[in-house]
Amino acid sequence: MTTSSTFRGRRRVAEIAQAVLLLGLPFLRVGGESALRFDVPTLRLHLLGASLAMDEMFGVLAATLFVTFAFLLLTLVLGRVWCGWACPQTVLSDLTAPLDRWRRRGGTRAAAAHLGLLAVSAVVGASLVWWFVEPRAFLRALAGGTLHPVAAGAWAVLALVLYLDLAFLRARFCATACPYAKVQGVLFDRHTLVVAYDAGRDADCIDCGACVRCCPTGIDIRDGLQMECIACAECADACAPIMRKLKRQPDLVGYFFGEPGGRARLARPAVLALGALTAASLVLLGTTAAARSALELEAEVVPGFAPRRTPDGQVVNAYQLQVENRGREPMELRLALDAPGLSARLTPDEIRLEPGERRDLKVLALADPPGPGGRRVEARLRAGPAAGRGPARSRGVPFVVPEQR
Ligand code: SF4
Ligand code: SF4
Repeated sequence: MTTSSTFRGRRRVAEIAQAVLLLGLPFLRVGGESALRFDVPTLRLHLLGASLAMDEMFGVLAATLFVTFAFLLLTLVLGRVWCGWACPQTVLSDLTAPLDRWRRRGGTRAAAAHLGLLAVSAVVGASLVWWFVEPRAFLRALAGGTLHPVAAGAWAVLALVLYLDLAFLRARFCATACPYAKVQGVLFDRHTLVVAYDAGRDADCIDCGACVRCCPTGIDIRDGLQMECIACAECADACAPIMRKLKRQPDLVGYFFGEPGGRARLARPAVLALGALTAASLVLLGTTAAARSALELEAEVVPGFAPRRTPDGQVVNAYQLQVENRGREPMELRLALDAPGLSARLTPDEIRLEPGERRDLKVLALADPPGPGGRRVEARLRAGPAAGRGPARSRGVPFVVPEQR
């Protein structure tokens, strides 16, 4: 059992850190772009310096798998610690608790509290829009009265929903509507960390009701584990000083692994299985990130274009290319055809791509025929930096040498 006297203080530190992180992260820039933002105008996900296009979402899928398995593992081992310590719903409810107390008193204080909750909702609503629209651009457009109607509308709806939540729902959302709360019964086992009441020491309870009065979801921890419990440990904080005063130790309510007296036990099948899946998805994510190139190239022969000879005897093949710059800098690229025994010239052989640009182009390859006709040479079409260092990609293509007529 853990000592409970400072759970609230520790939770406040965690909650303020989370609020600062969520409000500040959209402003943090890595490699000239937001550290984490799905940019709606370009449909690209900016993630810690990488810029992923929509068709690169395999990486996003790998990241989603990792987050999902890690979250399931966290729930299995530490129960609803997310709900009590880090969920934005709890964080916002706790950090606006003084306003809520004013609201319940009525009169002018209630009016001031509603204004305060509206202001908080507006700021938090804007911060949610900043995950999709660059925050400095958002603020500039807002100041200049040129905010896009879609961004303004999304902000207004989010702020309204947040205000209604903070003014009228608060922790009742956790107890009634939160889907995560509904599945906790499936995710918990006999060793999961929970806030619990030591029913074996029922005689030590003086039935003062302090643990019930402070509970944000209005339940009685003495009735055992309930779906409404968000593991905030407010009840443990309320009971601990009473037990100390009565010199009845250890605390009657607190965090336990499974049941009062229970100890952490990580070596259990479900934890090991979820741990393996979390590690596997992390490896998949790392592999996907390592294999990613800022330059993307696809190449195929132009359908319907028959390889031919020019009047001076040169052989012409034609390729359809799709080149994409997935980086943040312009690219000057040189195109080349590597084929054994061939010295081929490409037209065009140099292109420039702006950041994020994707281009389809047709390329002609001319070469002196290498020996007799009626042959197919396996070649590689290559795109690389015209000067200096940079990403390079190549694709296998055939170079067909037709018969001499
Ligand atoms: S606060 Fe402690 S002593 Fe008071 S009712 Fe709750 S469990 Fe019993
Ligand atoms: S029972 Fe205790 S831990 Fe659970 S929600 Fe209520 S105060 Fe928080």
